Amino acid sequence: MDKMFYLLLMLLISWFGCGAKPGTSSSPTTEEERFALERKKMVEEQLISWGRGIKNKRVLEAMSKVPRHLFVPDDVRNHAYDDTPLPIGYGQTISQPYIVAFMTEQLDPQPGHRVLEIGTGSGYQAAVLSMLVAEVYSIEIIEPLALRAQETCKRLGYTNVFIKVGDGYRGWKEKAPFDSIIVTCAPEKIPEPLIEQLKEGGKMIIPVGPIWDQSLYLLTKEGKEIKKQAVLPVRFVPMKGEIEQK
Ligand code: SAH
Repeated sequence: MDKMFYLLLMLLISWFGCGAKPGTSSSPTTEEERFALERKKMVEEQLISWGRGIKNKRVLEAMSKVPRHLFVPDDVRNHAYDDTPLPIGYGQTISQPYIVAFMTEQLDPQPGHRVLEIGTGSGYQAAVLSMLVAEVYSIEIIEPLALRAQETCKRLGYTNVFIKVGDGYRGWKEKAPFDSIIVTCAPEKIPEPLIEQLKEGGKMIIPVGPIWDQSLYLLTKEGKEIKKQAVLPVRFVPMKGEIEQK
């Protein structure tokens, strides 16, 4: 009798437990499916709704395809699609998804463009851009981060991303000029060599200022003139290297 009661109890527990468990018809079955659903929700809620208003269809599509969870370390993987920056090691962070989408949209990326990024970090921003333009050149000052990003991009098939270890202050002269430049670490002054490596009519998006008072600036190069517009208050990790001596 005791055994019967126990069996019945187990049956009831597993029956009631079912609805909340993955593996039922309406829930994702694999981890990849779960992340895909989270990514879709991230795009719909954090980029389109909540008054954020990212509109560029190609940018939204790239954000809905690139597997952000494969660019972050294991211990934060379950937070990959949260509305927040995440630590990627060496005291650095991957930006909040909204900031990645916003900066990408500001550059108005076109299929034939060649883009320079300063601050590869995880390689995620470079991968998003690589879906929208012809070539992405990215420089990272911390060697192990550069190597990891290189490995991730290669493994996931982002073959038009070219990463090198170095100080991005001087840009990438051999590959210049660029249609656009994206800087994902914050100097206190805009590095002159980067302006020089921007094409006529090209755009640069860059956070400028000390950590407690930064703004994202959109620069447009028009002849000898540089148009400069503050577009969003932000908080990025400081740019290191040569800029610190300026
Ligand atoms: N875009 C990245 C996030 C970048 S975090 C992503 O998608 O994950 C900022 C990065 O800029 C850090 O990895 C930091 O090491 C790098 N960095 C700081 N100063 C730099 C410099 N002078 N040149 C190149 N990279 C730099």
